[in-house]
Amino acid sequence: MNTAPTSMTTVQVRRPATIGMQAATGGSATTPAAALPGLRARLREAVFPDYNRAAFIYWCVVVVLGSGALALSVAGVAQLPAASLGQVLLIASIAAVVGLFPLQIPKTKNSIAAGDVFIFLTLLLYGPFAAALAAAAEAAVAAWRTSTRWTSRLLGPASAALTMLACGSGFALVQDALLRAGLAADIALLVALMLFTVAYFIASPLVITAVAYLKRRRWPGVREAIESFGWLGLGYAGSAAVAAVLFLSHQRFGVFSVAVAAPMIGMFLATLNHFFSQQEAAEREAAERAARVRADAAEHEAAQAAAHLQALEQSDRRFHSAFTHAAIGMALVSPDGQVLQCNQAMSMLLARGDAEIVGAPFRSFLNPFDATRIEHELHLIRAHASDGFQFELRVRRPDGREDWASLHCGYFSHGAVGDGCLIVQAFDVTARRQAEARLQHMAYHDGLTNLANRSRLHEAMALAIDTHRDDPTRQFGVLYLSFDGYRSLNDSQGLGAGDMFLVRVGRRLKELALPGDLVARVGGEEFAILTHCDQQGTHQVLALAEEVLRALSAPLAIEDTEVATGLTVGVTFCDVGYLNPEEALRDADLARQKAKASGKAEPAIFDPNLHECAKDKLLLEAALRRAIAANQLALAFQPIYDLHTCRVVGFEALARWEHPERGSVSPATFIRVAEESGLIGALTQWAISRACMRLRDWRERHPALPELFVNVNISGLDLCDPRFADFVGETLRQHGLPPAALTLEITENTLMQQLERGSSTLAKLHDLGVGLSVDDFGTGYSSLSYLSTLPISSLKIDRSFVSRLEVRAADAEIVRAVIQLGDALGKRVVAEGIETATQLERLQGYGCELGQGYHFSRPLTPQLALQLLDSEADGTAPAPTKPTHRANDNTEGTPTWPTSIPA
Ligand code: C2E
Ligand code: CA
Ligand code: CA
Repeated sequence: MNTAPTSMTTVQVRRPATIGMQAATGGSATTPAAALPGLRARLREAVFPDYNRAAFIYWCVVVVLGSGALALSVAGVAQLPAASLGQVLLIASIAAVVGLFPLQIPKTKNSIAAGDVFIFLTLLLYGPFAAALAAAAEAAVAAWRTSTRWTSRLLGPASAALTMLACGSGFALVQDALLRAGLAADIALLVALMLFTVAYFIASPLVITAVAYLKRRRWPGVREAIESFGWLGLGYAGSAAVAAVLFLSHQRFGVFSVAVAAPMIGMFLATLNHFFSQQEAAEREAAERAARVRADAAEHEAAQAAAHLQALEQSDRRFHSAFTHAAIGMALVSPDGQVLQCNQAMSMLLARGDAEIVGAPFRSFLNPFDATRIEHELHLIRAHASDGFQFELRVRRPDGREDWASLHCGYFSHGAVGDGCLIVQAFDVTARRQAEARLQHMAYHDGLTNLANRSRLHEAMALAIDTHRDDPTRQFGVLYLSFDGYRSLNDSQGLGAGDMFLVRVGRRLKELALPGDLVARVGGEEFAILTHCDQQGTHQVLALAEEVLRALSAPLAIEDTEVATGLTVGVTFCDVGYLNPEEALRDADLARQKAKASGKAEPAIFDPNLHECAKDKLLLEAALRRAIAANQLALAFQPIYDLHTCRVVGFEALARWEHPERGSVSPATFIRVAEESGLIGALTQWAISRACMRLRDWRERHPALPELFVNVNISGLDLCDPRFADFVGETLRQHGLPPAALTLEITENTLMQQLERGSSTLAKLHDLGVGLSVDDFGTGYSSLSYLSTLPISSLKIDRSFVSRLEVRAADAEIVRAVIQLGDALGKRVVAEGIETATQLERLQGYGCELGQGYHFSRPLTPQLALQLLDSEADGTAPAPTKPTHRANDNTEGTPTWPTSIPA
């Protein structure tokens, strides 16, 4: 049998050099040799810096044993015949050279050394010594190539020699045993080779990698070992198979078959190497491409980031410029309200320098009420319940002045700057606010007195009505006040004085009103007070009304003139159950009218009957309007006598209205309605033309009475009509009457009230030659100076004095005084209401010139008046001291006043 020549396949595992790079964690080892401790330490430091004690000992053992194995192998090989020795050296050299070109397995860090085939072949051909030599040579080359450390370069060949010698010897022994057991040579070879492969697969990586695991003091688990070295088995199996084929062909065909096979194996390995390299190159290229793509992407990303950053910087610059130069105030504020930054406009708005503002809480620059509000809003933002807010608030300047600003606050996100903080924008709206306030004030206040106007009063009353409806204990009252003094003041002194009067009155009312009351001017000379009170407040409201009356009934000094206020007050209370302010105000005014009609200086309280009166007045007014238009009024004529001769010298025309349903309406009633409704002008003109018409008729029928005259009553408003005097002149002309045939009667009070406005009419009438008689003389307050200067032709002593002539000496004295005054001033004196012969006698005794009254005659129809004149002319008139016509409208059998009088 041939000395078993061996071939070897070696798989190059991760060499100790790479594994050994990992830091040794072991503590310092005890000196293996007691002697030379310094040398050992230096050696350890220089050669084995990462070796612990176990690893070091193991290394030493393997190297020593490997060296022994190598020496043994050399000795063994030396025994071979010279030809075999040459073959051994050749194959070992091939194995070493092939070991220089390991096949790198793609995607792993491992490589296959094709030299294993030749090492195994050496084993099969020349036995374990030769194989150990070949394995050591191949391992030396590989270690030299892959590591620069001597430890690795020595451990590699030593372990290879040791492992191969051990396993190869085992192979030879097994093969011999199998042959002795009678197994066929080829079978014995293959079985032994299979067992060798397994043993070598286990021993080879174990011996070489043990040092690395010892250094780490950690052994791989089964799974890790299989993952790391499993593929080695495949490599060894392949190498063993190829070596077996080569061996068998060597046995049959000699060494040439090996020489032929070697290049084929070389070509195969080169092709495989080429394939692997290509694959690796392709993978590298792909990896490079991927890396390039990644690099490109990263570059693109970087460029984008740079552009973004640039854009951000640009936008930041723009924002900064806009922020700094903005016309409106801007500030960056932290969510808890602290100012972080502010612009100049904000500084100006807050009237403070940057240094004072930045770092301070924004609320500290606000009116306390608005500061609370803004705190609340900031709280909502912090709680994520709101994104921002906007409202108008008061900025408090250092001098305490407060300006209005419109403020907007929201999250600020501008790039990286100020993220998470808030931006406050504000601008001054004080001017607009002030304008609005002025407009509001104008809309709700009276321009002259600065009191509330009607609109404001309405609103307040509507609120008071609602409040009372919701809570009946909260009550109110309304006072309606009118100042008649204003009218006469305006007429006599002009508008300026009138305005002053209203201002004074308004101011006084404000002083008198209780806190919380509202004083309003609701019309020309009309005011109202809305006063609030509790459940027992009725007397409180009345007390206010009385207090106002008392305080304002004294005359006011306006431009050195004492002016009577002529105040009348009406009151109404909420318990009437008002639904709207108009009703309450109307009722208070109705009450005031009642107060005025009563003539008493006390407030009148509204009672629902007043509504009826007002309604009635309206109905009467409409009826009177129709009556005037339809010529339904009539004139009655009361004769005026010369008291010396007791003969008729004239008549007083008195208006009569026979209402179709109401019957005869008192002139006292319908004249007032006419005055209040503006119908009086038409009524007066009708009376004057109708009286003139009758007088002309009577004069024509009685030429012996060329002095016969007629008196017509006129109203104060007639004197104010600038066309009135012209009308009178025209009417006289129309009827061909001399002006002296007509006397106009005006009451003393009216005359005094219209002195100013009526003066031009009075003058014109005087120029015209028309007589003017002061009616109800003695009941008013005419000044004696006026009597002498005014164009007055006669005085009519009021009937109240005449009626008390017999019973009151004082009245008799007044009558006498008036008669004497008339004499002194050259005015005719007429006594009214003479009802008795005694009165007549007295008056005659006092020298009173003229008189009228029931003692002589009641007012007569025109026909009866003519009959009276006729009878006087016939001489059938009764004795002078006896009344001629005693007939009464209602009491006498012969009515002197038929229900309708022909026009
Ligand atoms: P007056 O101008 O003072 O008129 C006199 C009133 O006294 C008349 O009442 C007359 O009927 C009444 N009278 C006359 N003699 C006596 C008497 O001896 N005893 C009593 N008790 N009364 C007597 P009458 O007609 O009811 O008129 C009332 C007032 O109405 C008038 O008072 C006058 O102010 C006004 N009036 C009447 N007609 C007119 C008119 O046409 N125009 C204007 N503006 N006022 C008129
Ligand atoms: Ca009269
Ligand atoms: Ca009178």
